[in-house]
Amino acid sequence: TSFGFKTVPEEAKESLVKDVFDSVASKYDLMNDATSFGIHRLWKDAFVLGLRPGRKGPMRCVDVAGGTGDIALRILDYARENYADRETSVEVVDINGQMLKAGFRRFKKTMYHNTPQVSFHEANAQDMPSEQFPDNTYDLYTIAFGIRNCTSIPAVLKEAHRVLKPGGTFACLEFSRVNNPLLNLMYDQYSFSIIPLLGTILAGDRESYQYLVESIRKFPPQPEFAEMIREAGFATGADVDGGAWTDLWGGIACIHKGVKL
Ligand code: SAM
Repeated sequence: TSFGFKTVPEEAKESLVKDVFDSVASKYDLMNDATSFGIHRLWKDAFVLGLRPGRKGPMRCVDVAGGTGDIALRILDYARENYADRETSVEVVDINGQMLKAGFRRFKKTMYHNTPQVSFHEANAQDMPSEQFPDNTYDLYTIAFGIRNCTSIPAVLKEAHRVLKPGGTFACLEFSRVNNPLLNLMYDQYSFSIIPLLGTILAGDRESYQYLVESIRKFPPQPEFAEMIREAGFATGADVDGGAWTDLWGGIACIHKGVKL
């Protein structure tokens, strides 16, 4: 290849690939923190807190578009710390093998490593292989900052509905619409000028961060997304803990929930 991998000894090649990926993964976390001032951590905490995993006993969970396992780790910690639950499990699913590898490495430093509590799987949220993810399997399906990147939201929701047990919960954390005009003005200024600038300075990658902002604006507003969730066969609204959706920071992010009927 143009990197001359063929001439590099096997061990050196492995560490070269590892170094390259380490820099990508560390940038990913840095950019998450930089663009949101670390607020994504609080949103993720609120998301998992609202689900109270383990409250009704051990759960089988799937965290789709799970990346490096931010949500999975919070689910397992919450269940253990609050209910001494070491049986709840999370299957982390992502389309990107490198993100999963970074997640696997990260979990190596935790007590969940080498236990049935966590596993990593490469798959597309829109088409999860049914041999690996059978119908009516999970108590909880989570997707955080991931559904926006998928080409078909209905396809993702259909798969979520298929793999959940009847009575199981679908929970989505995603960037959404800001309803307050003043906050929206400030947020627009920030998104269209500062985020691409941070992308250039910190990651040397303006386009990806411009895409990030545009994809947020294209995502359906709260009521429309709630309607799509209902159309996929979930109950939302009064019968679901927390209602159809909960805005975070005036709608910059939003949590949608549904229960499989
Ligand atoms: N959930 C993690 C978090 O909150 O930190 C990761 C979010 S990251 C912004 C979005 C993730 O979605 C990436 O890891 C990406 O690989 C994954 N992704 C994008 N399209 C996907 C698809 N069709 N199926 C599964 N994962 C997908």
